[in-house]
Amino acid sequence: MKIDILTLFPKMFKGPFDESIVKRAQEKKLVEVKIHNLRKWAKDKHKTVDDRPFGGGVGMVLMIEPIYKALKELRQKDSKVILLTPQGKGFNQKLAKNFSKEKHMIFICGHYEGVDERIREHLIDEEISIGDYVLTGGELPAMVVIDTLVRLIPGVLEKPEAIKNESFSTKTLEYPQYTRPANFKGWKVPETLLSGNHKKIAAWRKKKSLERTKKRRPDLL
Ligand code: SAM
Repeated sequence: MKIDILTLFPKMFKGPFDESIVKRAQEKKLVEVKIHNLRKWAKDKHKTVDDRPFGGGVGMVLMIEPIYKALKELRQKDSKVILLTPQGKGFNQKLAKNFSKEKHMIFICGHYEGVDERIREHLIDEEISIGDYVLTGGELPAMVVIDTLVRLIPGVLEKPEAIKNESFSTKTLEYPQYTRPANFKGWKVPETLLSGNHKKIAAWRKKKSLERTKKRRPDLL
């Protein structure tokens, strides 16, 4: 998959995309991420990409022209263009799964007061929000969405079965996990998990998964 990101702050992506799964996905050539400074498509010598809102009000708004030009250059026939915005559709695992099947995705990171409304109306395919709160810019939301979808691309995870029973991949939250030591200051790991009986362990996990979901996220059932 190819991913293009339009941002005013390309350096923000340095850490998260140079570590762990997203880094490995790029090394394996399963994903190619390109981060573009939106100012590249500004037309004046000051590289202006924002302006005051018509009608007045505080803050600045990202202009349509640089984004129009960027998309004209980057968009392909099979591209999916996402605008990160708190007003968008709530991001979740199902959307991530759908996105992981795309060939080319373009993410537009807003900033300041947001973007010119005509960008929403004419230039994008979908608006995505990562939750009902307002961040400073679309960079962190883009990272959240990209990290989530990249690990779902076949071949990215070393052990793909890890995704199978994960929270939100099934209707239930994942069962409790433990590791060594089996007894830490008297806090013991459930006996069943130490039994070596795979059938019993699977049944225990299924039961715990259901109990946990009923208690914490009954809306998922
Ligand atoms: N004035 C806008 C409003 O009230 O809806 C909020 C603008 S916010 C300060 C600046 C940018 O951050 C947005 O254009 C968007 O790209 C990004 N952003 C902020 N919160 C977000 C969220 N929950 N999900 C996705 N993007 C978000």
